[in-house]
Amino acid sequence: MLIREVEKRDIDVRLNTEATPDFIKEFGADTVIIATGSLPTCPPIKGIENAHQAMEVYDGELKVGKKVVMIGGGLVGCETGLHLTKLGHEVTVVEMLDRVANEAYGSYREALVWEMENNGMASMPKTKCLEILPDGVRVENADGEQTIPADTILFALGMKTVPYDELKAAAGDAEVFIVGDSIKPGQVDQCTRSGYLAAIDIAKPDNFVEHEYRGIIEAK
Ligand SMILES: Cc1cc2nc3c(=O)[nH]c(=O)nc-3n(C[C@H](O)[C@H](O)[C@H](O)COP(=O)(O)OP(=O)(O)OC[C@H]3O[C@@H](n4cnc5c(N)ncnc54)[C@H](O)[C@@H]3O)c2cc1C
Repeated sequence: MLIREVEKRDIDVRLNTEATPDFIKEFGADTVIIATGSLPTCPPIKGIENAHQAMEVYDGELKVGKKVVMIGGGLVGCETGLHLTKLGHEVTVVEMLDRVANEAYGSYREALVWEMENNGMASMPKTKCLEILPDGVRVENADGEQTIPADTILFALGMKTVPYDELKAAAGDAEVFIVGDSIKPGQVDQCTRSGYLAAIDIAKPDNFVEHEYRGIIEAK
């Protein structure tokens, strides 16, 4: 739907184009919106080189083995793990917090956890990953230390904002808006909302005032 809405309008979309600082300077825009998003974090866990970032699963290039350990039981870890479980892999999710998919909302979380359990996906909450080995993951929880054997080890341990300081500096005197995951890695609704508010701010006539948090504009 978004693609159709963009295509219907006179919007100059340039694919395969990186907005470098030089590009921004040469373009000479009056306003620059920075929406460069976020990337997965790669934490300094011992042996991290033996694991793959969870989203590589969707690239189709990673050959995933039968036994899979997913380190990190947030939404990405749970959803990717469930996807693999449904494809026939034996997945165990290791999560440090009290419960998996902690950041998910009520009924969505319940449905996700129900799906995980009913498809035979194993979850280990309150469990810390100590070390990633070539053929397993050493973990610790209330029962002590153990090694979970694995053919493929994946991690989904959060996202971090793509650094944009150089792009912002290149904008010079132009007005700059930071939107989406560039503010803070979040979810689609927060991203579209911040983009929408930036667009309203850019387009509003001088005699209008915006109530930033409600996205409403009215005459002064
Ligand atoms: C696996 C996964 C599952 C998710 N599932 C959900 C979900 O179910 N529900 C939900 O609400 N949220 C979900 N999210 C979060 C949601 O996807 C993000 O919050 C949202 O996509 C962020 O939008 P964005 O436009 O700010 O950044 P992004 O979607 O990250 O887009 C940034 C874009 O900028 C491009 N870019 C970066 N630098 C440059 C540059 N210099 N020049 C040109 N282009 C550049 C990138 O290639 C990228 O296409 C999920 C995230 C992940 C990783």
